[in-house]
Amino acid sequence: MSEALMDPVGIAEFSLEFYRDNRKRARIKGQVQADLVLECQRCLGAMVFPVKAELDLAVVQVPEEAESLPESCDPVWVEAETLRLLDLVEDELILAIPQVPRHEPDACGVDSTNPVNGETADQEQEDDASDKPNPFAVLAGFKSDK
Ligand SMILES: [Zn+2]
Repeated sequence: MSEALMDPVGIAEFSLEFYRDNRKRARIKGQVQADLVLECQRCLGAMVFPVKAELDLAVVQVPEEAESLPESCDPVWVEAETLRLLDLVEDELILAIPQVPRHEPDACGVDSTNPVNGETADQEQEDDASDKPNPFAVLAGFKSDK
């Protein structure tokens, strides 16, 4: 799944309903619900992100069928007449994960009023570099011996 997902073990609940609509399309409707544990991109701590997604899907076998679907409805491609329900549920959860998961400001371990905090790592690296002797200084010494 996503890299943002810290804890791949969890419980996803889903309920799906299968039916044919008035145009004889195979439809899947339902709900997926899970508490995902994501890594907050500000403090790198764990955060629980509750997901509740509604599904409204239509099973299609040729691209033309997908074009005629109502907008609220997503096409599901069925290959070899097999539909893996867990894939559906997983896709839905992945879609629900924010690109940059972050705690609410109150709940985050990093003080969001202090913008310097986010750059601490970079700052330390620069300091390290300036403390170390320049490796080329040695070469300069050899040159001057000639
Ligand atoms: Zn945080």
